[in-house]
Amino acid sequence: MPDTVTLLIEPLPAGDTDTDLEATFREVDAAEPALRVGELSTQRGDGIFETLAIADGHAQEARAHLERLRNSARICELPEPNLPQWEAAIARAVAALPSSGQFGLKLVLSRGVEHGPAPTAWLHASPAADFSGPREHGIRVVTLDRGYARDAAANAPWLLLGAKTLSYATNMAALREAKRRGADDTIFISSDGYVMEGPTSSVILRSGDVYSTPAPSGAILHGTTQLSLFGYLARTGRRTEYRDIPAAELGPADAIWLVSSVRLAVGVTALDGTSVPFDADATREFNAYLRSPRV
Ligand code: PLP
Repeated sequence: MPDTVTLLIEPLPAGDTDTDLEATFREVDAAEPALRVGELSTQRGDGIFETLAIADGHAQEARAHLERLRNSARICELPEPNLPQWEAAIARAVAALPSSGQFGLKLVLSRGVEHGPAPTAWLHASPAADFSGPREHGIRVVTLDRGYARDAAANAPWLLLGAKTLSYATNMAALREAKRRGADDTIFISSDGYVMEGPTSSVILRSGDVYSTPAPSGAILHGTTQLSLFGYLARTGRRTEYRDIPAAELGPADAIWLVSSVRLAVGVTALDGTSVPFDADATREFNAYLRSPRV
């Protein structure tokens, strides 16, 4: 059985319920050329994506990812995706993969080809990297200035904040800067001094017995993993809250985590070069929950 699947998808308009969905998918070899040179996704990063986990044959939180894809499309003024079509594409990929093991599945919706057919869409699933080390032992994090204020989304909607766009070059640059500073990852701080998110993750901290995450202001991506974990915490009797978190609260926090769909929950062991408390037991508990099948 192959451990990667790539499907080119002919995007249907939202609301189209008549078309045979299977006829809109074409499986291709990821090692072979598949996109046109005029693709605006590759030329300009003009498109959106989602990455979700497939855990032992189950696509985690597929609906939440597809809702976020729809929201990203709205922010970017892309045609609304046909969610049943994407659901069918995910199901087809899952069926083609081994029924055990961890995979990452990426969905891409691009503005298409310049002066050509639009939009373009594809899906690619491949084995997930092994994150057992960071999950078990934690990561070192530095804080970096995001370069805009917490309310930037309202003042400058053309920045497309809150959409998961393909333009991740700055996020990757921040990760390189973190490595240069001897860390593994980073937490972005808004120019007005508030905790935002990681370049590929949401931030959760615990102070006393309360779990907090930055209020969704539109300037950060609302993480599906954070949302799911907050649901679990609430169901198991823990207090959770969304609020504006001043950066100065990170140092004194009782624990900090970065959470995301494929790496899951990793605890922070050092912040800007200073050790911070790392809760190995809670991290194990969170990852046991996050690895379980979630809808
Ligand atoms: N914030 C950013 C900027 C991200 O890129 C990601 C995931 O890649 C997240 C947050 C976490 O989102 P999720 O939990 O849905 O993977």
